[in-house]
Amino acid sequence: MALPIEVVKSGNGHRTNGNGNGNGHAHLHIHESEAAHVHTHDPELKHELIVKGLNTTVVDNLEKIEDAVRTILEEVGEDPDRDGLVKTPYRVAKMYGELLEGYTQDAEEVINGAMFDVDYGEGEMVVVADIEYNSLCEHHMLPFVGKAHVAYIPRNKVVGLSKIPRLVDMFAHRLQVQERLTNEIADVLEEYLDPVGVIVMIEGQHMCGSLRGVKKHGVNMVTTAKRGEFRTNRDLRDEFFKLIGK
Ligand SMILES: [Zn+2]
Repeated sequence: MALPIEVVKSGNGHRTNGNGNGNGHAHLHIHESEAAHVHTHDPELKHELIVKGLNTTVVDNLEKIEDAVRTILEEVGEDPDRDGLVKTPYRVAKMYGELLEGYTQDAEEVINGAMFDVDYGEGEMVVVADIEYNSLCEHHMLPFVGKAHVAYIPRNKVVGLSKIPRLVDMFAHRLQVQERLTNEIADVLEEYLDPVGVIVMIEGQHMCGSLRGVKKHGVNMVTTAKRGEFRTNRDLRDEFFKLIGK
């Protein structure tokens, strides 16, 4: 049985997310200020928490992250108790919960059985282009953002189209380097679909490149990962780049 969770935001006007009342299920009311105390290993409850935006892994450790942010504020010479900063550790901890929620997800859960047998026709390509993503580079924990373009040639299985952007998000919402992100997306599709070929191209603009170090603005980094037929068949690659408008 799924446990509907209502997240009640305290403050101006209670905003309620949830499945409503009166359907006979148990309800768990969690105030955001109490979120740090939510611990669960129940997979269904965990899933509900993720759906409601309360990352359970990070929620488990919210207070520790808050303490760490407070330490940073102190060590850069700030007063963490002044008005503008007093809730900053909490906000930052919660933000990491969102930006790094991929650690609480796995491909099995994301794909969730949405694979279908097809007789798609030999060599026909499925393309999902312009998938916007945001990620955090693992070297500086600064954002990199851009678009992912994914194509595969089914052997006898296809996956629901909405699942590919969700897989991109799952891997992007972990600490990453762009090259690994690209390869992980290609590998997970190869593993689950056993396609004739997969190609992933990712474009990324890295804040760590534009804000610090060489300070090059607007540099677009491009990475590709090819599996199966896309490795050897140049015509297929050309078709892919044409279809995504590159
Ligand atoms: Zn970096």
